[in-house]
Amino acid sequence: MTRYNHIVVLTGAGLSAESGLHTFRDKDGIWARYDYREVATPEGYHRNPVQVLNFYNERRKQNAHVKPNAAHDALARLEAEYPGQVLVVTQNIDPLHEMAGSKNLIHMHGEIQKALCVACGRRHAIAHSDLTLETVCPACNEAGYMRPDVVWFGEMPYDMERIYDALGACDLFLSIGTSGTVYPAAGFVLEARSAGAHTVELNLEPSEGISDFHEAIHGRATEVVPAYVERLLSAAHGQVSFGRWA
Ligand SMILES: [Zn+2]
Repeated sequence: MTRYNHIVVLTGAGLSAESGLHTFRDKDGIWARYDYREVATPEGYHRNPVQVLNFYNERRKQNAHVKPNAAHDALARLEAEYPGQVLVVTQNIDPLHEMAGSKNLIHMHGEIQKALCVACGRRHAIAHSDLTLETVCPACNEAGYMRPDVVWFGEMPYDMERIYDALGACDLFLSIGTSGTVYPAAGFVLEARSAGAHTVELNLEPSEGISDFHEAIHGRATEVVPAYVERLLSAAHGQVSFGRWA
């Protein structure tokens, strides 16, 4: 295994699922029980803001009880110990990566524990509090403009310029626990490849985008991610290398 200078890690719902969080897209996931057009679009929010606020209040309550798992821990360890740059780009809106200790982290789809004031554009940490139409923005003191700071369908994900810069400079790209069906994230592997990066999928099962990767490792994130991180760290620190996995 080579030593890398710039590692970009894309993570998705498969990682949080092993911490007990409901995923959105599985066949028994959240979008099987709720109509995303009602609760996860700007139009749905305009039609019925209370319903949308309550939907995310419910999700936020679930987050209060979850803990990062071995895969989150391994990625935080990689960032802390790897002699190169490690950036985690997550599609997850839960706080599990930062709870595990990841610092160089982009929440491209926003964060469930933050609110965005539509009146002044400021973002605020709200931890586990509920948002209502009476919630007052601490920056501009307006009430009724605080929405969940999550990226809805039809909205532009956060920090795309920074993400594409990192993809264009990376030499290793890992895609972990993500279905490979949601754009723009599903296109990141090709960006990384065209920059010359080695690309690896770590997922429970082969994703729809598997043919775009050089290498794929299938299994539970809590097992395959710590093992892969261990190999990266061992190789980088000049210890025994076990060669490439098929
Ligand atoms: Zn405000």
